[in-house]
This record gives sequence, C-alpha cells and structure tokens, in this order.
Amino acid sequence: MKTKTLKKDKVNLITLGCSKNLVDSENIMTQMIGNDISIKHEVHEDDTNVVVINTCGFIDVAKEESIQTILQFADAKKDGRIEKLFVTGCLSQRYKDDLRKEIPEVDDWFGVLELPELLAKFNADYKHELIGERISTTPKHFAYLKIAEGCSRTCSFCAIPLMRGKHISRTIEDLVKEATHLANTGVRELILISQELTYYGLDIYKKRKLATLMNELSKIKGIQWIRLHYAYPHKFPMEILDEMASNDKVCNYLDIPFQHASNKVLKDMRRNITMEDMEEIIIAAVEKVPNINIRTTFLVGFPGETEEDFEILCDFVKRMRFDRVGVFQYSHEEGTSAYEMEDDVPTELKVERANTLMEIQREISLKNNEQHVGTTMKVLFDRKEGDFFIGRTEFDSPEVDNEVLVDGKEHYVRIGDFADVKITKASEYDLEGDVVVLSKFA
Ligand code: SF4
Repeated sequence: MKTKTLKKDKVNLITLGCSKNLVDSENIMTQMIGNDISIKHEVHEDDTNVVVINTCGFIDVAKEESIQTILQFADAKKDGRIEKLFVTGCLSQRYKDDLRKEIPEVDDWFGVLELPELLAKFNADYKHELIGERISTTPKHFAYLKIAEGCSRTCSFCAIPLMRGKHISRTIEDLVKEATHLANTGVRELILISQELTYYGLDIYKKRKLATLMNELSKIKGIQWIRLHYAYPHKFPMEILDEMASNDKVCNYLDIPFQHASNKVLKDMRRNITMEDMEEIIIAAVEKVPNINIRTTFLVGFPGETEEDFEILCDFVKRMRFDRVGVFQYSHEEGTSAYEMEDDVPTELKVERANTLMEIQREISLKNNEQHVGTTMKVLFDRKEGDFFIGRTEFDSPEVDNEVLVDGKEHYVRIGDFADVKITKASEYDLEGDVVVLSKFA
C-alpha cells in the first residue's frame, strides 16, 4: 500500500548495528531527500508519521535489539502515533518471510539491496545521479567510506555472507568521487570499511587494490586522516603497510580481526590461517610501521573450544600486546556451517572467558597508555561533554577506541579541529591532556 500524499510524510530513520549499516542509512537519507521526502535520523520528536528501521542481524543480541525496536514502533502504529512502519537491513533480509507473519503491523520488509523498492513505497525513484553523494549522520569532520559490499569468505561462524551476499568492490573512481564530495562538506577523516577490506579489488580489477585506493584517497584536498577497519589476515596484502609507512595521511592504525589463536579452533572457524601466520603479520607490521597501533577482535566460546584452546588465546594476547581488543561471545547462527557443530560451551563459560580476556587486555591497555604520558599527540576533537572536549588520536577510531579528554575550563577548541595535546594522565581506556598548539587545519 502506498502513502497518500508523499510530500507530507515525515520520516524518522532508525539505524541499528554497525558502521556499514550507518552508511546504508546515509544512502537512504540521500535518496529520500533527493526525492523531496522529509527524513531525519533518529529523532525523538513525535511529528514524524513514518518510521523506517534499518536492522542488524549479526548475532543474538543484535537480533534481539532489532526485534525489540520493531515491536516498539509496531505499538506506536497500533496506538496511532505513526501511520506507516517499514523495516530494512540485515535482519529483514534474513528473516523477512517469517517476520512478515509474526509482526503484521509492519507495512513492508526490504532486503539490503532493495532500496529502490523501499523508495517506491514513497512514490520515489532511485536516483543514480546521487551515487557518490551522501547525507552524513556522523559529526561533520569524519565519515565512513564503504568500499565494498558483501563478503566472499566462508568463516564458519559468520552469517554476514548469508545477508550481504558475495564481495562486490566499488570502483576507485566512484570512491574518489564520493570522498571528494565528503571532503568538500568538511570531512577530514575517512574511515574505510567493508566486511573484508583486504579483498578490495580482487573481483573487479583481478588484483588487490587497497593500497592504490588509499593512495588515491590521500590526494584529495582536505582529507587529513585515512583509517582502515576490518582487514582479513589470510593473504594479507603487505603493500598496505608500505603505503601506511610512507603516506602521512594514512593513520598508523590497523583493525585486523584475528578471532582466535588456537590452530584447532582457527581451522574449525575456517579462517585459512594459523597462529604462526598471524604472528608473522604482526611482526611485519611492527617492522614496517614501528608505531603502528593494532586493533583486533576475538570470538570466545566457539563450539569445541576447550580450556586449553582458551589458554592458547590468552597467551597469544599477552604475548602480542595488542593496542585495542574487542571480544565477542559465539552466537549459534542457523545457516552457518558452524551451526552443524554442537554449541557446547555453556553461556556462563562464554561470559567468563570474555571477561578473562578483557581483564588481560585491560592491564596491557593501561601500560600502553601510560607510555604516552609526557608526549605530545595530534588530536581530532569530536564533541564536548560536560566540562571536557573529547577527541581522538590517529590510533583511535570513533565509538570503539580510546578518547583524549581536555578540560574545557582551561582550553578552548572547536569541534572538528586538530590540536597538539600534551598528555598528562592515562587510564585503561582514556588519556587526558593540555592543548599546546591548535592545528593549522582547524
Ligand atoms: S571475513 Fe568477516 S564478514 Fe567475511 S565471513 Fe569472515 S567474519 Fe564474516
């Protein structure tokens, strides 16, 4: 069913899940606004009459959050507080046939590649001329740049390829165009994302082209930082480390999810890599880029993970001394090949192992951070909270990493400015400091 008078619709777009979903939401907004539809991102005012929810279907907790959000707005529709409710994104892609029956209040469900169909519900067209433009929901000075969609890997625990399909790289020309547009709107930091960054180019150029892309993006006027997220370790393209070492605009930061360290678990996870290979990558990274900061994520409680496997993982974390670590608990996802295995690690043990690993990392993080005290670091300021201006160094990504706090009673910086900050204090996950020089890029 179509909405009656389209111009009067006021749409509230809700985004759940990761930065890749956020970029999809930004594209939805760009297309809607390009079609003269009034749309806002996550507003709490009640003057919107249509809600679109962009869902996540990654693991149990994410699915639960998406379902609860849909139910909350289904109630709003039943109560007459909104007129229409549409759901898109990963959860919808994966379960729309079942959910359609379960939650009839939702007017329609769309998969991740069905933006034209969603627009049609508003009598709007998908405008190809808007590709490369993007309404940003992040602070003006940074933006996520999604360089590919989908994933062609077959990690046994991961449901993402079921929802997002195979890896499809965007062309370098398209990405440079979009990044130039973002830079013209004030973006200083580009955060490169995709399900699997290091595969970039193999499908369309028949060779890995991430380093070339980094180099091309760094030539764009206004871009000061380029940051890499989600590098897959198997067949890691070492040339990206050379580009990082030689190119001042590429942050000395690498997010490379290793997932585990026990060779038995890595094999069952179908990661195509051993602990020894992973160590070689880390050693090479530190050799080529001496002050590189490495972020990784691990998955604990995978089927068959024994105490011994977990010990191997703890030992790996202690030896490698990563700068940033995230830990997920295994979620038994139907449709994945690990679903054939028995989910035999009890929930309490998964929680305990996740906590143990984070405790190990907490001590490492504190020691790493203490080394910065007395040094001066370049900081990009994201926001003001209470009395403090809050920013990040090149070693920190938004939302997931450390922050640098500067006392707003003593110093003034503008949000989106760079400044040199002398670090005076360190805790496990934050630094504090004093501004010594405001950057000329302010
Ligand atoms: S590389 Fe990442 S997104 Fe792709 S299957 Fe493995 S875990 Fe999933």
